Amino acid sequence: MSLKVRSLHYRYGSVTALADLSLELPQGQIWAVLGPSGSGKTTLLGLLAGLLAPTAGEIWGEGRLLSRPGWALPPERRRMSMVFQDFALWPHMTVAQTVAFPLTVAKVPESERRRRVEEVLRSVRLEAFAKRYPHELSGGQRQRVAIARALVGRPSLVLLDEPMSNLDARLRESMRLELAATLRQEGVSALYVTHDRIEALAIADKILLMDAGKKVQEGTPQDLYQRPQTRFAVDFMGAANLLAVKPDPDRRGVWTTGFGVRLHGTEEEPRQEEGQALWLLRPEQVALSAKAAVVPDGIVWAATVTDRVYLGAYWEVALRNPDGTQLRAHSQEGWSIGEEVTVAALPTAPWLIHEPMPGQETDQPEDASLQDPQGPGPTLLRRRIRKTVAPRDGTSHRDQLARAPEDSDSTSA
Ligand code: ADP
Ligand code: MG
Repeated sequence: MSLKVRSLHYRYGSVTALADLSLELPQGQIWAVLGPSGSGKTTLLGLLAGLLAPTAGEIWGEGRLLSRPGWALPPERRRMSMVFQDFALWPHMTVAQTVAFPLTVAKVPESERRRRVEEVLRSVRLEAFAKRYPHELSGGQRQRVAIARALVGRPSLVLLDEPMSNLDARLRESMRLELAATLRQEGVSALYVTHDRIEALAIADKILLMDAGKKVQEGTPQDLYQRPQTRFAVDFMGAANLLAVKPDPDRRGVWTTGFGVRLHGTEEEPRQEEGQALWLLRPEQVALSAKAAVVPDGIVWAATVTDRVYLGAYWEVALRNPDGTQLRAHSQEGWSIGEEVTVAALPTAPWLIHEPMPGQETDQPEDASLQDPQGPGPTLLRRRIRKTVAPRDGTSHRDQLARAPEDSDSTSA
């Protein structure tokens, strides 16, 4: 489904959970909605699924109006499906029954139903587990059941809310490749909500980065990692050095660090004197070599090793630049503390971000309630949804989205 979201707002009473969010998801793409806890991700999914009606703004799917202020087309009429954080499997239903359920509800003929269930179970590698119950499955297998159930009815859009957060770290790593492959094979559009930047980078065609209910930046994984627009985006996407630079008064596009190293080749125009420019240098964009070594031309300077720690894949090295500022680098060698080394920045076009000087902050959220003083914490929305997990609680929207039994009679399906 191609999805068009226009200037969406949502308030829980006095709390603005989502402010002025717009996006256009083309058919067949996988987008990640990435942000810290409390940034409005689950609220956005609730609005897209039709569990919530917006306070302002509109949602369109394939040219059809799905939501407007105070009104939402019911979840079961949206051709969307959802994968919940806790998978929401029904304990008394086998894998095959669970996955068949959306088709049973849709009154798909038995032979067609059986064929499609087999096909989906094969694509998530669960064909040998069709007769098992949830308690006889591992966490990764349960997740695959939830994904199979979300895909079986050929939805146009799959919404996934932190589907990896209940899996252990090693499993997450293998599942993210597999999940992306399954979604692409099915050709569905998907919005994948996560607070894990690695998942977002690995899975998504585009990432929508959120903070405090607002979109911070939207772009490809490379855009977000290599060309972040704000300090929040820099930090959220990974470890970074930010070195203050000043524009060369005479030469446009040339910038100088506090220790006299010049950067060429930025497209940046020097901005007004107030505010500062920061050069983004991720730890893996820095190469260290012995002081005496011959270093090719480029952006190089001398620095002193102040600390280092071995992390297996590389050493994380802390250095002091000539002006006293700190630098973090990844290196294949463990240097000695106190050693002077040559630092070379990898030859990519330097990326600068600009921010107001302290005290000049201009882009505070206009609504103080966007900043949750209590911190993230479990949300009422989530709690409300959780409460409806029990399959006998027939008419809940969550169950409709997951295509749960309508009542206890149909559990034999
Ligand atoms: P995320 O999924 O990114 O962690 P949420 O969408 O759950 O964020 O929450 C966004 C904001 O809305 C948070 O400040 C949260 O506390 C608040 N919030 C979420 N659900 C409710 C609710 N049912 N009632 C009041 N505030 C809520
Ligand atoms: Mg959430």
